[in-house]
Amino acid sequence: LSPVPSDIEISRAQTPKPIDQLAQEIGLLPEELEAYGRTKAKVRLSLLQRLKDQPNGKYVLVAGITPTPLGEGKSTVTIGLVQALSAHLRLNSFACLRQPSQGPTFGVKGGAAGGGYAQVIPMEEFNLHLTGDIHAITAANNLVAAAVDARILHEATQSDKALYNRLVPSVNGVRRFSPIQLARLQRLGISKTDPSALTPQEVNSFVRLDLDPEKVTWQRVVDTNDRFLRKITIGQANTEKGHIRQAQFDIAVASEIMAILALADGLADMKTRLGRMVVGSSRNGNPVTADDLGVTGALAVLMKDAIKPTLMQTLEGTPVFVHAGPFANIAHGSSSVLADKLALKLVGEDGYVVTEAGFGADIGMEKFFNIKCRASGLRPDVVVLVATIRALKMHGGGPNVTAGAPLPREYIDENLELVERGCSNLKKQIQIAHLFGVPVVVALNVFKTDTQREIDMVCRIAASSGASAAVPCHHWARGGRGSVELAHAVKEAASQENDFRFLYSLQMPIVEKIRTIAQKVYGADDIQLSAEAQAKIDYYNQQGFDTLPICMAKTHLSLSHMPDKKGVPTGFILPIRDVRASIGAGFIYPLVGAMSTMPGLPTRPCFYDIDLDPVTEEITGLF
Ligand code: ADP
Repeated sequence: LSPVPSDIEISRAQTPKPIDQLAQEIGLLPEELEAYGRTKAKVRLSLLQRLKDQPNGKYVLVAGITPTPLGEGKSTVTIGLVQALSAHLRLNSFACLRQPSQGPTFGVKGGAAGGGYAQVIPMEEFNLHLTGDIHAITAANNLVAAAVDARILHEATQSDKALYNRLVPSVNGVRRFSPIQLARLQRLGISKTDPSALTPQEVNSFVRLDLDPEKVTWQRVVDTNDRFLRKITIGQANTEKGHIRQAQFDIAVASEIMAILALADGLADMKTRLGRMVVGSSRNGNPVTADDLGVTGALAVLMKDAIKPTLMQTLEGTPVFVHAGPFANIAHGSSSVLADKLALKLVGEDGYVVTEAGFGADIGMEKFFNIKCRASGLRPDVVVLVATIRALKMHGGGPNVTAGAPLPREYIDENLELVERGCSNLKKQIQIAHLFGVPVVVALNVFKTDTQREIDMVCRIAASSGASAAVPCHHWARGGRGSVELAHAVKEAASQENDFRFLYSLQMPIVEKIRTIAQKVYGADDIQLSAEAQAKIDYYNQQGFDTLPICMAKTHLSLSHMPDKKGVPTGFILPIRDVRASIGAGFIYPLVGAMSTMPGLPTRPCFYDIDLDPVTEEITGLF
């Protein structure tokens, strides 16, 4: 239709096929499906075992140029591409997307189901509770937080003996260590299994985690943009006996448990990673983990369903896995390893799995390769690099835009000069993909204000910058048939020679890994470490965490650390303010500038427009 209706109107106008019918079409057995209503279902991981001998399909990563407030449309390109591959080229294909947080849905950005005629449906299910994975993460995360503070209180108020009697109670006159306690004893180097045989010194080290309240790094989470929880004081009731300390809430998707969900390759691996999570350090500087708190089994129980990807469909009835949605700054920003693995088996050798990396290619794609591909062992066949004319114009020096204000003329009228200058960013992102040896197809997501001359210019510059192909895409206005040219280009690029390689070796010292990313990817002259960052690196080296990959927490709005520097900034030194670690997820994350892990609500949040008709149960205002 023209004009293109709103995302929710388009979504509602299409009747999704029953999820069991879709499951049957893609080769799932009824017992591999756990339906949640009629339009979504979780898929059991036993499927991986059943299809273990099936060759994988082609693995396509959708990444973008450096984001601008004007939006690029990576999700719409992802959906448009699978719609074109499946419904128009008749090739098996699967999209793997992140589950959005409710923070942005009710806050500023809106949903993340794609848009126009390239969407996951029903988009309201996708954008809201889905199958409860984020709720499970919240519950698990906050159980750890509660365990941390309760433990500090109990240790402070009880003698070794009293703690020991409670931790290892006598049941019917028999005392026994639980398996998780035996594992802790082993970590402490105590090989005794009889609770009565421990010396007082051993009892002391067993019962006391001795967490330093000043060094607790684990935070509480909630999936709402609630800025007033950015800094809080806890423990103010008399019952907590003066154990008052400052803490904070993060948004649920910033929880390390979300990153673990995205990187785990099965239940056993998830459990190991959950147990390894460091919650803080003891007074003598040793890391304290979820295993030490004895909470790992309970976390695995809370997460047992969340680990199964959720099957949904596009507007054109093709399959989509929605699974995990870690932050793209303090975490790696892509959907789950498990969803990708299941999808690659399901599409078979001639099929395509299209997945997405958050932010620009310099961040999302770099982490996808160096962190996610390392964890999964999967190798990408093609990178689709998404660009829009309007974002390129901003990189070329176009004016800033203000939310709610009319778009400046530069973004509406033809302006070849701005487009040409802005293509520097596109060219740089193509070069970054080539550092990893993967062919690049540029997808120009066409807006109705783009002119033919502007479109031709971007495609020409992309092709001369080494892209295998560069094609205009019209999926937003036309659905899959608007991306047929892109689908052909991806198919062609996937058949090319692929020389995938990581950017750095894990054996490189932490500082060298950071420097390599800063110089080779961002174009920095060098890095500068604060004293705090250096001290943390020394500590991680000493703890043996030095062989983890690096997850840079940097602004996504520039290749540099300065959000207002568009295009391709040069001549800068990247400042590393602090360095932190997600040991369970398995990466070190340097902080470049301040990172907010709890967004706030603006004056007029998206929720103003969201409503429900109590008679028809129709939702309006989601986009
Ligand atoms: P990203 O994944 O890069 O964040 P999305 O695909 O979610 O971007 O798109 C962001 C928003 O922009 C969506 O609301 C979508 O409907 C809109 N959008 C994307 N492409 C177009 C287009 N070609 N024309 C108009 N609106 C578009």
